[in-house]
Amino acid sequence: HNTKVKMVEMPKGYSGEGFFATSFDRVIGLARKNSIWPLPFATSCCGIEFMATAASHYDLARFGAERMAFTPRQCDLLMVMGTIAKKMGPVLRQVYLQMAEPRWVIAVGACASSGGVFDTYSVLQGIDQVIPVDVYVPGCPPRPEAILDGFMKIQELVGQESLRRRHSEKYKELLNGYGIQ
Ligand code: SF4
Repeated sequence: HNTKVKMVEMPKGYSGEGFFATSFDRVIGLARKNSIWPLPFATSCCGIEFMATAASHYDLARFGAERMAFTPRQCDLLMVMGTIAKKMGPVLRQVYLQMAEPRWVIAVGACASSGGVFDTYSVLQGIDQVIPVDVYVPGCPPRPEAILDGFMKIQELVGQESLRRRHSEKYKELLNGYGIQ
């Protein structure tokens, strides 16, 4: 006679990465996404919009991100705002490399995202030519609402970040693509 084998589905959390690891990921993600320390790398007009974003009316502090620093070693979010000249490229890359993992990058505005109106020999046509970017905010300049929207997208990524992904082979491959070891 036919023997039917019933497949028993493992309860959620007892397979894959394991209950402890996945729940721990979520707790760490919740803490991280509400205590982001941004490094504002502002070179021109978009930086002024960021100042408005951080000031009382738009109040970036509501998101737990009021603690800005200009030392990369204390920051986990690099916010690049403004026109980045090609000569500035290695500096930007150096700042990125000095940040500890896990780190995220947001390109604020057309210039940081693609060179913007400065389609010229001296301007980097997007910071993703030198470092990996997680979120791009369009606009010339983007309004503070758009910057906050980009920031909230970063928060989503941070909240979902696995404790392992940044050490994964895939991430290392991505960095290798930028010539970063
Ligand atoms: Fe200035 Fe526009 Fe470039 Fe922003 S995107 S830095 S507003 S020129």
